[in-house]
Amino acid sequence: MSAAANTIVAAFLRKKNQDALVAAKLKAEESDRLKSAFLANMSHEIRTPMNGIPGFISLLQEPDLTGEEKDQYISIVKKSGDRLLSTIHDIIDISKIEAGQMTVIRSSVNLNEISGALFAFFQKEAELKGLQFSIETKLPDVHAIVETDRDMLNSILTNLIKNALKYTQKGRIDLGYDHQDGQIHFYVKDTGIGIPADKREIIFDRFVQADVSHTRYYEGSGLGLSISKAYVEMLGGAIWFESEENKGSVFHFSIPCPELHQRDDLQHTDQPEPVRMDLRPMRILVVEDDQVNYEFIHAILKMKGHKILHAETGAAAIGFCRKDHAIDLVFMDIKMPGMDGFEATKEIRKFNPAIPIIALTAFAMQGDPEKAIEAGCSGYLSKPVRKEDLLACISVHA
Ligand code: ADP
Repeated sequence: MSAAANTIVAAFLRKKNQDALVAAKLKAEESDRLKSAFLANMSHEIRTPMNGIPGFISLLQEPDLTGEEKDQYISIVKKSGDRLLSTIHDIIDISKIEAGQMTVIRSSVNLNEISGALFAFFQKEAELKGLQFSIETKLPDVHAIVETDRDMLNSILTNLIKNALKYTQKGRIDLGYDHQDGQIHFYVKDTGIGIPADKREIIFDRFVQADVSHTRYYEGSGLGLSISKAYVEMLGGAIWFESEENKGSVFHFSIPCPELHQRDDLQHTDQPEPVRMDLRPMRILVVEDDQVNYEFIHAILKMKGHKILHAETGAAAIGFCRKDHAIDLVFMDIKMPGMDGFEATKEIRKFNPAIPIIALTAFAMQGDPEKAIEAGCSGYLSKPVRKEDLLACISVHA
């Protein structure tokens, strides 16, 4: 090669290296910017309800409040708590996805039950916003059984419906599914603000809440769609959307489902059991090492006239069950120092196979419900426990 040609090649390579360096620098800066915006948004999402809760609780201590003011402040505290919890759920979910700790747990899921329960749950919110909400399920109940991960499917649909409600001020929302070519295809359609063309590429990214001003106005961690996408992909499917600004959006996802099962002994597991009103006062052992959690359960049970016994460790729980044959039911915390709730349940089962033991499992612990049943528990409740669920559970096992 001539000297001139060598010089041209060297200059070309230098330019190529420089371009690569510039591109890498821009990418690093963009990633930095997105991370800072993500942190700013997260801190906003955590601080806002965190300020609301103690703030309104202190207002509730004011002596001259009207009943209406009290109700309003209590409702704000409740909403703030729910919002905070939802952000914490999102952060835990995305961390577990990133760490590769999420596994698909398949069971028989009735598509009509799962979509019907969500429809019923969000109907009130749609109504309050003046939105029409409709559901279209294409298969009869007995044919709508698929083998999939119930929690993941529930979480994807919840995220999409919540977004449709959040980003739609007037018009309607349609939820539905159909089944074709071995795929179940779900859709959530809204007549909301739509998604601007320059955002379409990034809305499934984790850091899309980078647009702090935007998400601030609408509230939200900005993680919902990235979690949904990760779940859909773990289920072997795909998620996509069509959208027109100021007209609306349709979010679709499909999951492979080569076979639909027929079940004649259909059990409506998603339908909450009605709480029985005729319950006699019961003797209930609450195994819980955390004082605040215990006080909460104690307050609910006391209101209903139950007699409550308290054990702070697994070993103490075994002792109570051995000595006191009048105990009707046990609420068993799982995570306790020393012997955990699974071990304690296994021990109790050795001498008392019949007593109902309800595990209280932390919501972040995937697989805990299955472990609880394996250990011999009769049922489980996810923490934070809700009053209605606790009472419904007692009425089922009484
Ligand atoms: P969040 O709603 O908490 O901000 P998501 O990850 O669920 O986070 O959504 C990311 C972004 O996608 C939202 O901030 C919003 O800009 C846009 N988006 C999602 N769903 C819709 C929808 N149905 N209509 C309009 N925009 C939407």
